[in-house]
Amino acid sequence: MNVIGHSQNLEKLQSALQSSMRSFIFCGPDGVGKHQVARHVARMFNCQNVVDDLSKINKSCDCIFCSRFKHGYTEGIRDFQLSLKSQRAIDFIRTEILGRLGERVPDVRRYFVILNDYQWLSSRAEDLLLKPLEEIRETTFILITNQLEKARRTIKSRSIIFRFQTLSNSELFEIVTPPASFDEDVIQRVYTCAEGSAGKVQRYFDPKVISLYDSIAFPSRGEQKKFSDILKELREEESGELKYTKVSFILDMWKLFLFERVLEGIYDKKYFYAYEKKVKRLSQSINLLREDKGSWFVIDVFIRFWFLFLTSYAEKSSIN
Ligand SMILES: [Zn+2]
Repeated sequence: MNVIGHSQNLEKLQSALQSSMRSFIFCGPDGVGKHQVARHVARMFNCQNVVDDLSKINKSCDCIFCSRFKHGYTEGIRDFQLSLKSQRAIDFIRTEILGRLGERVPDVRRYFVILNDYQWLSSRAEDLLLKPLEEIRETTFILITNQLEKARRTIKSRSIIFRFQTLSNSELFEIVTPPASFDEDVIQRVYTCAEGSAGKVQRYFDPKVISLYDSIAFPSRGEQKKFSDILKELREEESGELKYTKVSFILDMWKLFLFERVLEGIYDKKYFYAYEKKVKRLSQSINLLREDKGSWFVIDVFIRFWFLFLTSYAEKSSIN
């Protein structure tokens, strides 16, 4: 997949990667391409043909490194998704990251460690990174976060910060091709509702989301379901456990549905905004709970409570 947009950040990265700094923070909303840029930058700085030139980031290359990279070869570029509880995160940083910094792999010119969802790392785990960020010359760290304010000041002061902006609708269109079954006006609404996040557009266009969405938004295409029934189905699918990704997926889908109703004049705009605010608070609370002491049991109970509230709220807010 190509890198779309972010040209200013790519320019800034070009010189940053040639400097002596070895820690970069990519911050910005989810789904705008931070991870995509990180992976391609790591590839480019190991490519055997287009040496270190980020203006050629989308040029296809069949050198040994790029071909292996395309097929999932990730030695030398270590890419981690963080969603660990405090103690596990500390062990993980010690063994998986710090313990393996000295490993050498043939054909790798520059080593990268990419940490996704860095905002979930506890302060104690972050502290373990301080020394390596400053002293390790052979490895470049890319810390990806949607909440820059949560990173420790000492980490920020040792890093170059790159702020990623949301994408324009035409950029989104370049990244995600809408399914043929969607009407043009619905597609436009999806892009608007995604607020510049390609990740969200992808989620809205997921066949499973489309079928769920159809069943609540277009009763004529099938039996109309209540939001609460959909939640129940999802929960059964997950054998009783409601996962965070499912939660955000449902919240987004419901938002899309409300948005459409607002445009059609069925719902009052003020309910949509009120809903948005509540969803934002819900996500913040989930993130807080996920930090050091949040147990999944508490999160699950908390989410269920909020869903009950939101469901009754949204059902009541219909103008009809
Ligand atoms: Zn190459």
